[in-house]
Amino acid sequence: MFSAVQKDGKTLYLFPRHSRKWLQEKKQNEEFFCPECKEKVVLKLGRQRMEHFAHQKGTHCTEGFERESDYHMSGKLQLYQWLEEKKLNPVLEPYYPSIRQRPDVAFFHEQKSYALEFQCSAIPPDLMEKRTKQYRRIQSSVLWILGGKNINRKGERKVALTNFDYFFAAKSPAGSWFIPAYCPAAKIFILLNNLTPITTKNAFANLSIIPFHQFTLERLFAPSHKYSFSSEEWKREIRSQKLNLQMRCRKPHDLVHELYSLGLNISLLPPFIGIPVRSAILLESPPLIWQTYLFMDHLFSRKAGEIFTVNDIFHGFARRLDEGMLHARILPLASDYSQLTPIMEYLHVLEKVRVLESLNTNTFKLIQKVEVPDHVVRQQNLEEQFYKQYEKMLFF
Ligand SMILES: [Zn+2]
Repeated sequence: MFSAVQKDGKTLYLFPRHSRKWLQEKKQNEEFFCPECKEKVVLKLGRQRMEHFAHQKGTHCTEGFERESDYHMSGKLQLYQWLEEKKLNPVLEPYYPSIRQRPDVAFFHEQKSYALEFQCSAIPPDLMEKRTKQYRRIQSSVLWILGGKNINRKGERKVALTNFDYFFAAKSPAGSWFIPAYCPAAKIFILLNNLTPITTKNAFANLSIIPFHQFTLERLFAPSHKYSFSSEEWKREIRSQKLNLQMRCRKPHDLVHELYSLGLNISLLPPFIGIPVRSAILLESPPLIWQTYLFMDHLFSRKAGEIFTVNDIFHGFARRLDEGMLHARILPLASDYSQLTPIMEYLHVLEKVRVLESLNTNTFKLIQKVEVPDHVVRQQNLEEQFYKQYEKMLFF
């Protein structure tokens, strides 16, 4: 960290920079304390690294979560310089005593106060959630920025994300899910916009890589809403996922076995199973999996014209969660969003593709008995027809 409290209660900031000589004198004649935990900290003036304050080994201070790494320190400083360049009057490591927190950088933008947290290595999700809520208490919004080295790119529009990477997912004011990242080594911003999970780890995203000087705050606030991938790419992913599920030898209670016990086959499912919805990120289970369970539990055995309620669906879903067949995703920055959102979105898509008819906000009717293809050729025909007819609506 770049600031510490002195014996007289005043804070010493290391930026703007002081001369080495002045700092060496300070180090000899002064004691320094962490503004958060009040523990004694040491002023480090080595030649290899930037001057900074460090906790002693074995500290329990939450400030100590990786915050002293070079990657983190240079990232924080560069983000501060970037905001300075944009004339947003940033403050490095301001301490807010009322919530006992200190963001990496704080700034004002259009009369709103922002805290910026740059995080490169694991932090418990509940701590992220707690810090975010605390900032809200003092009317400050927080922007969590992931260390860019974490991002594992799998292709032009595809990334592999760990649970930790997903912690940074937030919903933009424009309504799309995104993760902002910064890499101080390459001096680039990396924006993953419109994240659309395919499997638990892999997701499609609009990937933008923007050099330090060209990046504007507006880009953070208005990530695009359009899917980056084509229906062809999506179909390919779902097909290979189906193959994988079928090949993997798994426990007797898994999805493939359960399908089998109903006389169903994963590669012979109706084409509306395994389609993208906007908030799929809220579930850790892939769309193909949770949509298959929903089909088995609620649609497969129903007759044409049968009526059921959204609550029926929600209960079934909750049971699957309890039994560990489905998993919600831990998203500390989105704790206000219900895991039922993607289910609701999916039901509305089923309405648009004429599988369901909504009678009122809480009740649906199955329009006709769902056709389950009985061989591959029929499955392919149905799929082709389906995507041809609804492509624009599903992949806009
Ligand atoms: Zn501390």
